[in-house]
Amino acid sequence: MAFSNNAKTVLERRYLTRDEEGNVIETIEGMFKRVADHVALADSIYNKEADIEELSNNFYNVMMEQEFMPNSPTLMNAGKELGQLSACFVLPIEDSMEGIFDAIKNAALIHKSGGGTGFSFSRLRPKGATVKSTGGVASGPVSFMKVFNSATEAVKQGGTRRGANMGILRVDHPDIMEFIECKKDTTEITNFNISVGLTEKFMEAVEKGEDYELIDPHNGKSTGTLNARTVYKHIVEMAWSTGEPGIIFLDRINRKSTVPGLGEMESTNPCGEQPLLPYESCNLGSINLAKMIKKGTNGYEVDYDRLGEVVDIGVHFLDNVIDINRYPLQEIDEMTRKTRKIGLGVMGFADMLFHLGIPYNSQQGVDFAHKIMKFIDERSKKKSQELAEIRGVFPAYEDSIFYNEGIKMRNSTTTTIAPTGTISIIAGASSGVEPLFAISFVRNVMDNDRLLEVHPYFEQIAKERGFYSEELMEKIAEEGTISHIEGIPEDVKKVFVTAHDVSPFWHIKMQAAFQDNVDNAVSKTVNFRREATREDVEEVYMLAYKLGCKGITIYRDGSRENQVLSTLKKH
Ligand code: UDP
Repeated sequence: MAFSNNAKTVLERRYLTRDEEGNVIETIEGMFKRVADHVALADSIYNKEADIEELSNNFYNVMMEQEFMPNSPTLMNAGKELGQLSACFVLPIEDSMEGIFDAIKNAALIHKSGGGTGFSFSRLRPKGATVKSTGGVASGPVSFMKVFNSATEAVKQGGTRRGANMGILRVDHPDIMEFIECKKDTTEITNFNISVGLTEKFMEAVEKGEDYELIDPHNGKSTGTLNARTVYKHIVEMAWSTGEPGIIFLDRINRKSTVPGLGEMESTNPCGEQPLLPYESCNLGSINLAKMIKKGTNGYEVDYDRLGEVVDIGVHFLDNVIDINRYPLQEIDEMTRKTRKIGLGVMGFADMLFHLGIPYNSQQGVDFAHKIMKFIDERSKKKSQELAEIRGVFPAYEDSIFYNEGIKMRNSTTTTIAPTGTISIIAGASSGVEPLFAISFVRNVMDNDRLLEVHPYFEQIAKERGFYSEELMEKIAEEGTISHIEGIPEDVKKVFVTAHDVSPFWHIKMQAAFQDNVDNAVSKTVNFRREATREDVEEVYMLAYKLGCKGITIYRDGSRENQVLSTLKKH
């Protein structure tokens, strides 16, 4: 079996079934069989004669071969009592005590099942506004975020994994300045990622250096103005110093909605890759590109035939998940079934580039990203159309862009690039579309385990080309990059680049290349060196806007404690 020790550790800790005393009673094969059998069952809804066993075998094989993995909740919960299989949810928060505490309760139920929640706090009246029923004053979005945060903290103890949240505030909310710096103290609101929801109007005002209006969502009235550049610079300043807030381009997200007839999206899921309508959920799955290669006459090449097959299996799998999912709320059940959004994406992209000898930070790399994601996106749509012929179109079809185009789809979206934080460990792949963090590094697995790892293909090349030594691997772990290390051939250095060798410019170019061929969004962190300036950050934000990204998250090395991945070198 090809599962690494890291993969086994992760699976044993949280994924494999346990008995009442907490003993693991499932093998890895058993887990994938449980998932495959359960997900395959959905076919019988549409065809009483369907060969469930054969389908289950197909599902089982792609997971066992590490070619495809569904998001963690599916692996954890499929075929079990909980049965909640989605990673991503967006919940609305109404401007009332009832509304706010309903959302907290709903989030708790979702976190318990391993899902993450996104919220927009934009509908809450600003701090200091009057509360009619009591004559008191409102405490504002940021103070309520702290309540959501504490609830998440408490649920964390009993849930399958750490509940994650996204908190969004529109840039024209009167409390925007307080929001921008609400995580200045990096020990605060730690169960949230935060992003400012930017509008086109705001971006135009930034470009022209103009003021823009702040609106009280409660009554729609202007409460005053702020200078757009001042606010923008403040966002940049905070992101430079702590990595947060991120930004999302709300108008762009809504312009690209495939179901505009169902209203506006106001938030994404916690890691930003999945904008959703209120009460929508989405299940994700990722193809491991490292496995989609074959030996050709001139070294490795992409195995497009197999990739196409795995896309078909992935779409089929994810569409089935919608039917067998046990939704935590009636509203979520209804919304999710209406749009039938799925998010097929990739992991192991950096591994694939290593095998193909293409540098991540190059036009060749970006062009290749475009090509491979276009292939996956088109193929996934073709499969969704095939499913629509048998199973019918998604119920909100008439509210969608596909209706006007006359294209019958089973799913209103098919593609998303997830971070694949844990499933990439299970599949032994580089995460999502990120460059490798380091050729050799220390990984903090789950809680506090630290493990040293060398990239297996690099190790193989080093041995083949005769420059392997344990001493060298140690040295690489110290440095985190091979770019300054002597004794490694130049052509190897060019290809085996890591996150810090890749300049922010190429990070964004890569994100944009994937975004061009993805319905939903792309999970991506733009890494900056510690020495990067505020101007560098500002420039990259503008570039993300100009290149059509839906949002951006940056991280400047050393600016936040408790990094998940860290090189040995102390900064
Ligand atoms: N997520 C979460 N808690 C976690 C990790 C992930 O709620 O600890 C959710 C969140 O919505 C995130 C999504 O799962 O955006 C996908 O994350 P990832 O791809 O890293 O999950 P994996 O399937 O690898 O566990």
